[in-house]
Amino acid sequence: MKHKSIRFKLTLWFSLVQIFVVAVTLIAIFGASQTVLRGTVRDYLIGTVEENVDNIRFVSAEGDSQTNVYIPFSDGYLQIDRDYMDVIHDVETALYTKDGTMLYGSNPLAIQTSDQAFTESYLWRMKVDGVRYDLYDRKVNLEGATEELWIRGVVPETENTAQLRSIAGLTAALLPLLILLTVLLSYLLADRLLAPIKKIEETAEHITEENDLSKRIEMVERDDEIGRLARVFNRMLDRLEHSFETERQFTSDASHELRTPTAVILTQSDYILEKDRPPDEYKEALQVIQKQGNRMNVLIADMLDYTRMEQSAERYPFEPVDLTELVRETAGQMALLETNGITLEVDADDGVTVPGNPLLLSRLLQNLISNAYRYGNPDGHIAVTLKETDPAVVLSVADDGIGISKEEQEKIFDRFYRADSSRSIQGTGLGLPMVKRIAELHGATLELDSEPGNGSTFRILFEK
Ligand code: ADP
Repeated sequence: MKHKSIRFKLTLWFSLVQIFVVAVTLIAIFGASQTVLRGTVRDYLIGTVEENVDNIRFVSAEGDSQTNVYIPFSDGYLQIDRDYMDVIHDVETALYTKDGTMLYGSNPLAIQTSDQAFTESYLWRMKVDGVRYDLYDRKVNLEGATEELWIRGVVPETENTAQLRSIAGLTAALLPLLILLTVLLSYLLADRLLAPIKKIEETAEHITEENDLSKRIEMVERDDEIGRLARVFNRMLDRLEHSFETERQFTSDASHELRTPTAVILTQSDYILEKDRPPDEYKEALQVIQKQGNRMNVLIADMLDYTRMEQSAERYPFEPVDLTELVRETAGQMALLETNGITLEVDADDGVTVPGNPLLLSRLLQNLISNAYRYGNPDGHIAVTLKETDPAVVLSVADDGIGISKEEQEKIFDRFYRADSSRSIQGTGLGLPMVKRIAELHGATLELDSEPGNGSTFRILFEK
């Protein structure tokens, strides 16, 4: 059962439930009808017998024979009303002495019941030649008579009950057919119910076989479980497609970026090894190769950092971070570099805390400050500020350097993008994408104010 298909299980359960309901209904209907019919028949039987008890008297002399029948009994007569023994509702009654001699009336089972002793107010059943009979015995105590008498009433199973019995028999005979039909209908129903799931399965199959992540499951407009499943599935496909696309893009960007230094290294080595060269040329070539090697080194390290963070943000657990301390420490250390005579000032509010990852936040700040140094003017200024304002905690890094044009402000957050104006300065184009991603992970917004020649201010707003 554990490994059977859902269609099989549904069919089985539908069938079982339907058969159970039908069986219970039939049993209840037959049972109730039979009880009602038998009850009615028995009521007639007992009623007729009781009535006849009242129609019998013991008298000392014969009277009006028009209305009564007189039978000699003991030392007098039994006076029996002429109404007695009219067969009403198939009930026949007979009057007996204590030792079983029939005195009056009729009993269709006289022979079969002759050795059945009388029991007071006793209702019993008997089956003769396939017909069921209800019987009822009643003692008649006559005033003035010394001997007791008995009345035995008999009624055969009525036509209705017999019909009911044959219908039940027919139903039982038809039951296998009914079960077969139920199973068939249940199978069709299960098939119909599972059709949309089959469609989902087909789509998934198509995606796997064709490696086509752009395909989506239809039926999303359905407002039921299937619709919801399709929507969840499609959302998963969206994410997968996005993730694959990013990965593909990254691989192609990365190899593109690595191609230039590799090409330079190869050309230099080919050139220098072509023939014997003066020692100066060797030195020069090696310096070029070293420079390109360094570039590749930085590029690979940055790429590794970036992918690590992009793919597994869970490596960087969140905790309350003392941003004041982090800013003062990171900026303080970087101020020591004093590159190009640029000075760095820190203005941080005391005791500012945000939930986040200290490693990532420190990386974010390092990237911004390092950019401010690299794209700053010689002898310029960098201002790092941390302010706790009402809706947000604002961390900003401002420089008075080369600035960024409006068109390029949108692009500099793309991976490997570098503005034309900064080509002469070493960089990988991965610093700002990382800043953007870290801000996103912290639910923070990133703002940039910049003008070519007038410096840039990068602002990170941590929502409170
Ligand atoms: P990298 O600095 O390694 O080139 P980034 O992603 O950090 O990579 O920056 C992308 C580009 O954005 C830089 O190449 C530069 O053109 C521009 N940029 C970043 N920061 C500044 C800044 N403070 N001033 C001017 N331009 C900047």
